[in-house]
Amino acid sequence: MAKRCRSCLRVALLYPAVYSAAVASLAYQNLYYMLNSIDYVQAERLVATSMAGEEPPPRSLETGTPLDRFDLVLVPVSYELDYVTMARMLEAAGVPALRRARQPGDHPLVVVGGPVPSMNPAVALELADLVLVGEAEETVPRLAEQLYTGGREAVHGLACRRGFLAPGCSEPVGKAVAWSLDEAFHSTLQFRVPGSGEPWGEAYMVEASRGCPHMCRFCMEAHFLLPTRHRSLGRLKQLIEQGVEANGVRRVAFYALSFFDHPSADELLEWVVGEGLEATIGSLRADLLDEDRVELLHAAGQRVVTVAPETLSPRLCRATGKCIMIDVVEEIAGWAWRRRMHIKLYLMLGLPGETDRDIEDYVEQLRRLSRRAPPARDAIRVTVNPLVPKPWTPFQYLPLVDRKTYERRVRVLRRAQSKVLSIDALSYRYAYAQAVIARGDGRVAELVAEWARLGGRLGQLWTAARRLGVNPDSYAHGPPEERPWEHLVRPGYPPAALRDSYRAALASLKA
Ligand code: SF4
Repeated sequence: MAKRCRSCLRVALLYPAVYSAAVASLAYQNLYYMLNSIDYVQAERLVATSMAGEEPPPRSLETGTPLDRFDLVLVPVSYELDYVTMARMLEAAGVPALRRARQPGDHPLVVVGGPVPSMNPAVALELADLVLVGEAEETVPRLAEQLYTGGREAVHGLACRRGFLAPGCSEPVGKAVAWSLDEAFHSTLQFRVPGSGEPWGEAYMVEASRGCPHMCRFCMEAHFLLPTRHRSLGRLKQLIEQGVEANGVRRVAFYALSFFDHPSADELLEWVVGEGLEATIGSLRADLLDEDRVELLHAAGQRVVTVAPETLSPRLCRATGKCIMIDVVEEIAGWAWRRRMHIKLYLMLGLPGETDRDIEDYVEQLRRLSRRAPPARDAIRVTVNPLVPKPWTPFQYLPLVDRKTYERRVRVLRRAQSKVLSIDALSYRYAYAQAVIARGDGRVAELVAEWARLGGRLGQLWTAARRLGVNPDSYAHGPPEERPWEHLVRPGYPPAALRDSYRAALASLKA
């Protein structure tokens, strides 16, 4: 869609990653079409050409307009390292990444939103002129209207109200919530990468639910998306009918933190299959699966059942608030294997109370699971990450596990590898960088800007830190005594409730 309109508000919708990632982001797709559905807005997409190194001056995909010619640069930030790519793109366009180095008359207004800045805006506040706290359907149209009718000055009128955090707000800002998903904007047409073979590129993406009732203590998504809401069955069917037609696809990719928590999940999936469509559903809450549901997933063309127990220890799971034990995993795996499906498991290392002995137990349990697996390569794929303690979750008080411990435990876990079981571990350095930004403050924004100027490669984080005299360990490992996010936003739980939940987690380890 290339809307042309001389008098429109021109919005550069900057996706801080490459095009294929932008395609897979339903939030970005929805923002693009929502903005362009407003009469007086012309929104264009700008994406990165690579995830590190020198970036050419960004130009929009629609009209080739340079980034600095837009009225507004709007950036959705879903992952912590997106800030680095955002900073690389701004600098490549001649727009300083740090807010205080920009001149209102010379540079467009830079606004960020999404889960990462909503949960800890302290970094974003030094990079952006305004931070959108909460859900875009409630903030973006109001921002566009203010900017179009009153110019940049009028945007000050929004500052410090629910959903709009600006430098200098004296009180924490509440989160904006789209209470009714049926009334919230959802894209029908979606841009894609034809013929890419990527499941997301060949599917119509639809959001079934927002939030998750399980509220595991480490889960930032569930805490950000409070309260849990569902789109109605009728609205979902309507969107899917229109979406597959408009996009010329036969597959639906469902977005939901826990799909089978939707009250009409089975009916919806049966209807999708009955319509001759296929479906992709990402992570599934294991204790909501039964054989009928696995059969339904198979009938919908899904070839992998992904579940995330996070831990296989009955003791540790009481602390995380998520107990999916190996017998549940074995049962699901049996149903999946009978249908020639693979099983994918997510585990997390560095949980509170975890010891090497726990990981040795995991190895025994995974070996037992492997013995039951069919002789197919990769019948079981295990992905391992360190726990990254995120703001506004009960685990925000924890430090990131140290590198030696994580890598030693990954080595122990690798003993479970076999012809049928593969283990893929996230790099510690990547998780460390995530933790530094997730728990960062204004100094971390400077670190991000310097890191971006160096090229944004992972290893350059430490070079940038040395140059600025910043100790990244104090963010990753220091239990944050000062939690800047608590003074800036109120995205969900009150701080006292988080503290109580954290104490309950620690107490459960001693019980
Ligand atoms: S079940 Fe999954 S999505 Fe829901 S709170 Fe737990 S980890 Fe988050």
